[in-house]
Amino acid sequence: MMCGRHSSIRNPLSAVLVLVLATGGWWVTAGDGDARAADDSARAVAICCAWGNKLADGVLTYSVTGGDPTVLSILRGAVEAWDDALPDLTMTEVTKKADISIVFGPGAADGGESPGGSGARGLTTTYLNGRRLVLRVEIGIDGGPAPVNAGAMDQIAKHEVGHALGLGHANWEGDLMSPLVNPAPAPIPACDVNAVIQANSWRMVDHARRPKPASATSTSC
Ligand SMILES: [Zn+2]
Repeated sequence: MMCGRHSSIRNPLSAVLVLVLATGGWWVTAGDGDARAADDSARAVAICCAWGNKLADGVLTYSVTGGDPTVLSILRGAVEAWDDALPDLTMTEVTKKADISIVFGPGAADGGESPGGSGARGLTTTYLNGRRLVLRVEIGIDGGPAPVNAGAMDQIAKHEVGHALGLGHANWEGDLMSPLVNPAPAPIPACDVNAVIQANSWRMVDHARRPKPASATSTSC
């Protein structure tokens, strides 16, 4: 298992690695790019990376900009769903310099992922340090040309926040973190919650002070 086919750009001056999750990017691959699990026992969610020092106090900040009140409440709801599911994480909204900044608007997620047929899109850009620890994340969400489809927005927002918390993709269809995002609203699956805990185990399992890179590249479901 590996995280593959993502765009990565390394800046030699800052040693910051940028991962962009876009269409077809970041699948759990078994060598030949086939992302589908052979059977249920092989189901897994890919782990990208652990958060760094920002998570030392158990708090990550987020900001939400763009969109009307309905859109903003859907985006905040997606963040709150993850917050509620993770006992060792508190996500606090701020107006600037957020650890996770979420921007909604036309073009905000160009080239990104789309729930089938909904027109909504999501794009997550993760900035990593040289130890592959997350420094900050930018999420772009575009509601698409049609009036807001609440179910698609809910799922694409939860999916992108999953990436922001350290996840890659699930290797089967029908999970929140599957590459093909389901447009029907649903709670966050326990397996995806567990994968975030495993990704950030230095803080969420060991309750340590010093960040450690994720020790696994996937979690079985
Ligand atoms: Zn994705």
